[in-house]
Amino acid sequence: MSKDIPKEKQGLIVIGGGVTGLSSALTWALHHNVKEEPVLLIEKEPKTGGYVTSYERKGYVFDTCQMIPDMSELYDFLGIEIDLKEFKGYYTRFFIVDPKTEKITKIEIPSGFKNFKNKLMTEYPSNAKEIEHFLDYSRAMYKEFFGLKLNPNFFQMLKMLFTCPKIIKNASKTFDEYFKQFNITEHEVIEIFDSYAAFSGLPGNRAAALMTVSAINSLIAGAFRPKKGFIEFPHQLTEHYLSHGGKLLLNTKVDKILVEAGVVQGVKLASGEKILSDNVITTLDPNIAMKQMIGLDVIAKYDKKYADKVASVKMSTSSFNISLGLDDKIDLAGLGLDCGYNVLSTGKGSFDKLFDSFEKGEIGFTDKQFHFGIICPSLTTGGKPNITIRVVPMALADWAKLRKENPKEYKAKKEKWADYFISLVEKYVIPDLTKHIVLRDISTPATYARYSGSPTGSIYDMAPYPDNFGRSRLAMITPIKNLYQPRFVHGVFASLLSGIQVNDVILDGAINNGNARVPKKFEE
Ligand SMILES: Cc1cc2nc3c(=O)[nH]c(=O)nc-3n(C[C@H](O)[C@H](O)[C@H](O)COP(=O)(O)OP(=O)(O)OC[C@H]3O[C@@H](n4cnc5c(N)ncnc54)[C@H](O)[C@@H]3O)c2cc1C
Repeated sequence: MSKDIPKEKQGLIVIGGGVTGLSSALTWALHHNVKEEPVLLIEKEPKTGGYVTSYERKGYVFDTCQMIPDMSELYDFLGIEIDLKEFKGYYTRFFIVDPKTEKITKIEIPSGFKNFKNKLMTEYPSNAKEIEHFLDYSRAMYKEFFGLKLNPNFFQMLKMLFTCPKIIKNASKTFDEYFKQFNITEHEVIEIFDSYAAFSGLPGNRAAALMTVSAINSLIAGAFRPKKGFIEFPHQLTEHYLSHGGKLLLNTKVDKILVEAGVVQGVKLASGEKILSDNVITTLDPNIAMKQMIGLDVIAKYDKKYADKVASVKMSTSSFNISLGLDDKIDLAGLGLDCGYNVLSTGKGSFDKLFDSFEKGEIGFTDKQFHFGIICPSLTTGGKPNITIRVVPMALADWAKLRKENPKEYKAKKEKWADYFISLVEKYVIPDLTKHIVLRDISTPATYARYSGSPTGSIYDMAPYPDNFGRSRLAMITPIKNLYQPRFVHGVFASLLSGIQVNDVILDGAINNGNARVPKKFEE
């Protein structure tokens, strides 16, 4: 047995050192005497962070992630301080291209709820009342999240009928179904709000209304990037965790979750060693954790419904990312790229159609149909100029197979698609881009599948369809006693929050009172 592998029984083992695992393990360390109830975080890679990281290529530093909402309440809860840049002025721009005329409409989305509302109401006066109603109602619904209990008992459920009526009314709706109630007819306004559903990897006709309303409200309040790159999250979380006595095993792959008579016992490593623990939290794709590490037959013995839910769980899309290192003759700030996100889209339901292709395992992007993001990390982090082109949805399809069996064809396919996206950016957003490119680094769904272990290379965990989200989501409390699965749909925010939630569940509400959200003050 390696000398680093603890021989004694743990209080908690967390599988996976991404931000969900880090938040889970850190919250435990903050709320237990770890000498008596030790916590061990196990990560297969040589560093923590999972999808949240920064990487260097020939002196260019890129981030995987691009934009986060205000989550100061979570930093306070976890005791970390991230130096952030806030996108004042506008935080997102939309470049909507008419595929027939190639005319571009540019829309800037200002930061701050009031600014956003004023802008839309002034620029689209024929829909001013409807926009106001939609935004006010959605904001009131968003605030109701702070009154939600994660696992409400009967009396709490009854209370929620009065404290969270909007959430209850709209919980089973897609964003499109919800949005239609407000009678907004201005095409550009529809495009803008639909794009928030796309931020979670689903089109508005499939994404849960509650998810999209959360995305709109949390980002309007403020959009941020860490000044030292996204790697600052795992750095700080890991440091804080270790300083509170947490233990970490890197380069260590978990192979099995050990279960006896319906109770979790610990884990077995790929190297063969067993580590026993009273509690286990898995932060891996449930297709791995539940199906391969335990077995649906074992789970079905204790809860058939849960096993069926695992079998039919819908995972989110994967992604295609192009990181470009540029020469220093390019003026990225002059092109207005100093904002959180730029969406280049042919609009009019393009994302829906791309998603239809994605569902068939096809790539639906053409010169007349596209929708993707362009971001400039270096304007926040400094260093050599760079941009990232971020494409969603993209299915795993044959990417992993090609990478393994035919590296030449894999390379040709990824270069071909990179050329295609670069040419669109050059045509509509950054003139002469190709001339300035010094380096290109491409990640495909095969990259994400390999990195995270998710068989579909899913980048946002379980996809937020109404029947796969919120109370209909695969539950955090599994049928295996003391085994928990906190992963939550989409993003750094949700990952950090779910690590706190799962500890609150284990401690019976002792640290967050059973609330779904960590309390927050709203600025009006
Ligand atoms: C390209 C990209 C862009 C994104 N952009 C944004 C953004 O702008 N804003 C935002 O909020 N979110 C963004 N996200 C989503 C966000 O990164 C994820 O939601 C979040 O990182 C998920 O964290 P996690 O810990 O749940 O999972 P992961 O990050 O997948 O972590 C899982 C960890 O488990 C480890 N692991 C897997 N198998 C094993 C095993 N058998 N044994 C031990 N360890 C194992 C993996 O190595 C990994 O470290 C983006 C994601 C990607 C990929």
